[in-house]
Amino acid sequence: LNELFSSLPTTIFEVMSKLAMEHSSVNLGQGFPDAEGPEAMKQIASKAMYDFHNQYPSLLGVPELRQAVARHSEANQGIPVDWVTETLVTVGATEGLAACFLGLLNPGDEVIMFDPMYDSYVSMARRSGAAIVPVRLRLPDFSVPLEELAAAVGPQTKMIMLNSPHNPSGKVFTRTELEAIAELCIRHDVIALCDEVYEHLVFGGAKHISLRSLPGMAERCVRLGSAGKTFSFTAWKVGWMTGPSRLMNPIIKAHQFLVFTVPSSLQRAVAHGLDQESDFYLSLGPSLEVKRRYLERELAVLGFGVLPAHGAYFLVADVSKFLRSGEDDVAFAKRLTVEGGVTTIPISGFYVGASPPTHLVRFCYCKEDSKLEAAMQRLKVYL
Ligand code: PMP
Ligand code: GLN
Repeated sequence: LNELFSSLPTTIFEVMSKLAMEHSSVNLGQGFPDAEGPEAMKQIASKAMYDFHNQYPSLLGVPELRQAVARHSEANQGIPVDWVTETLVTVGATEGLAACFLGLLNPGDEVIMFDPMYDSYVSMARRSGAAIVPVRLRLPDFSVPLEELAAAVGPQTKMIMLNSPHNPSGKVFTRTELEAIAELCIRHDVIALCDEVYEHLVFGGAKHISLRSLPGMAERCVRLGSAGKTFSFTAWKVGWMTGPSRLMNPIIKAHQFLVFTVPSSLQRAVAHGLDQESDFYLSLGPSLEVKRRYLERELAVLGFGVLPAHGAYFLVADVSKFLRSGEDDVAFAKRLTVEGGVTTIPISGFYVGASPPTHLVRFCYCKEDSKLEAAMQRLKVYL
């Protein structure tokens, strides 16, 4: 048995959602929206299935979607992409990430990752034989410690992994931070892997800037997107990737033997979405901002310390005030689910470095207002 995976715990998202179901708790843990994506996309997907698009498409993805991905990159970030050599459709961003780690890393390589981070990165990168070098984002606003970042780059550094807007914090990396990361990549000949699944979920005056759009970065940066986040269809598991063909080639070889391809009915619907449904994804940010403001206000009244954020659909709160003696974020989140009827995600498990903070939990607020209100009501009663 593989040592790394045999000792791995079940992902916290599955654990907390299962507990929420068992206890009929209001689930503000796992990130999935209550409101679904555009109706037209569902119709296109089901019609494609009835129109006999049910056999293996090309391993790269259907041309319509790859062309739409290239247009989307140029239109939204000003990054030109050759759809023939620089695009790939993946089974969600999750498979895309795995293909990147498998295709790009060698044993002995080091990958710099910002702590905390989305939970799928670490094990997949380590399985490729690479070592993770965590650089901890600074509380309360999860800013990048630029000197520590520069000091973390060494002769073995192959890749810097960046996730903006960021899960779990909701942070949107600033232009200054991105420029510093780009400068390090260029100076030390390092690749950047950019998880931008929340690229359209920004608010409060923040702007999402892709690292790949910065001078000199297009040729050393791979960028990932997800229909789960852009169109609120998390179960479809359709993702996409753009990058220079030199980097895409080994990633595509990994992808061909991980999954080979992606259901073409769903790809056709996502192609339509990227080309025609920008009203949908561009309106997500403003509607989320209203929900965030509501939750921020209510949680503050209850005594939570809400950390600042400008993107994704997560809010991190300091729960120090509510911790019982010896209790950490995981125990607190479980107690809150079982006794208080509200589910959150403890974030200590998103850290790789030693001594992670154990007083922070993540609330997901891409939920119906009635659900957010019910959760706040329950917290009022319980806490
Ligand atoms: N990256 C981040 C930062 C995420 O939050 C998620 C969660 N969905 C993913 C990647 C995976 O995306 P997908 O569902 O498209 O596989
Ligand atoms: N990305 C989602 C989140 O952060 C969950 C994805 C998953 O459950 N694997 O909540």
